Amino acid sequence: MERIVEIERFSDEGSYEVSLRPGSWDEYIGQEKIKKNLQVFVEASKRRNEALDHILFFGPPGLGKTTLANIIAVAMEANIKTTSAPMIEKAGDLAALLTNIEEGDILFIDEIHRMSPAIEEILYPAMEDFRLDIIIGSGPAAQTVKIDLPRFTLIGATTRAGMLSNPLRERFGMHFRMQFYTPQELGMIVQLASRKLKKPAMEESAIEIAKRSRGTPRVALRLLKRVRDFAEVANETKIGLKTTQYALDELGVNHLGFDELDIQLLELLVGAKGKPMGLSTIGAALSEDEGTIEDVLEPYLLANGYIERTARGRIATQKSYEHFRMSLPSDKSLFEES
Ligand code: ADP
Repeated sequence: MERIVEIERFSDEGSYEVSLRPGSWDEYIGQEKIKKNLQVFVEASKRRNEALDHILFFGPPGLGKTTLANIIAVAMEANIKTTSAPMIEKAGDLAALLTNIEEGDILFIDEIHRMSPAIEEILYPAMEDFRLDIIIGSGPAAQTVKIDLPRFTLIGATTRAGMLSNPLRERFGMHFRMQFYTPQELGMIVQLASRKLKKPAMEESAIEIAKRSRGTPRVALRLLKRVRDFAEVANETKIGLKTTQYALDELGVNHLGFDELDIQLLELLVGAKGKPMGLSTIGAALSEDEGTIEDVLEPYLLANGYIERTARGRIATQKSYEHFRMSLPSDKSLFEES
C-alpha cells in the first residue's frame, strides 16, 4: 500500500502540485525567522549589486527547502538551475553546470550530503574563489586548467546536516534549520491550496488535515488532494469536516498524523520495554531502508517527543507508552544513557 504520509526524496509533483508551490514571500507560510533573515540578506545584496552568499538549508523532506530556493531566485531576479548531488557523477557534470552559469545566478543542489568527495574538491574553489580547476589528461602530461566563473550563489539542501563534511559546511555563509510547521500554519497552507484547486476547504477541515500531516506541507498537500476527491464524489462545493475526517480515516492516517509505519516503529520500541534498539535492527524489523527511517520517519517522532535517541539506540518515551495506554517499564535504569 502506498504510504500516505510518505515524503519522497525526489518529489513526484505533477504539474498540478507545481502550481501550488508558493511563488513569493507572502505565499510562503511559516518559518518566520528564516524568512525574515533571508529577506534582509536578499535586500542588502541587491542594494550592493552583489550575488547572495551561499546558503545551506537543512531539515526533513517536504518542509519547503526547494520552494525557498525558488522564492530567493525570484526576489533576486536571478535564474535558478536545480539539480541534486547524486546526479553529478563526474567532474565534467559539475563543470558543465558551472560554466553555463551567469553572473548572479543561483545553483540549487538538493541532497548535497550525497556529493562524492572528488566532486566536493572541485566545488570548494568554485564556491570560494569562483574558479574552476580542471585537470586535463593523466599521468605526467596532466595539466590543470583554471577557468574563472561568474559570481554565483550556491543553495544547498540536505536532510542530514551531520553527514555533510566540515569543509563543505563551512563554505556556506548562511545556515538555516527548517522547523516542522504548526497545525495553524499548515491549516493556512491547506486553505490557500484548496482555493487554488477551486475546491475550498472549510477552516475546520483545513485544521483537521493540518493536524494529521506530520508538521509537513508536502504531506498536507497530498492529503488535501485525496480529501478533495472524497468531497468531489460527495458533491460538496466546500470540503466539509465530516468528509475530511471520513477520508483521512479511510486513508489510514490517525489523529496525530501517524500512519502504519509510524505505529509499527512505536510498537516495536514500546515492545522493547525500554531496551534501546539500534537502527539496523529497526530497519530489519520494519523492512525499511535505514536512511528512510532516519530521514523521514524519525525526525517528526523525535521533534514531538515520542522517541529518543540514546548512545545505545532508540527508545520509546513516556508519551509513546501513554499513546498505547501502557505503563512505563519498571526498570528505569534502562532509560539512562550508558
Ligand atoms: P523540500 O525541498 O524541503 O523537500 P519543497 O520545497 O519541495 O520541500 O516543498 C514541498 C511542497 O510543500 C511544495 O509543493 C510546496 O508547494 C509546499 N510548501 C512547502 N513549504 C511551504 C510553505 N512554507 N508555504 C506553503 N507551501 C509550502
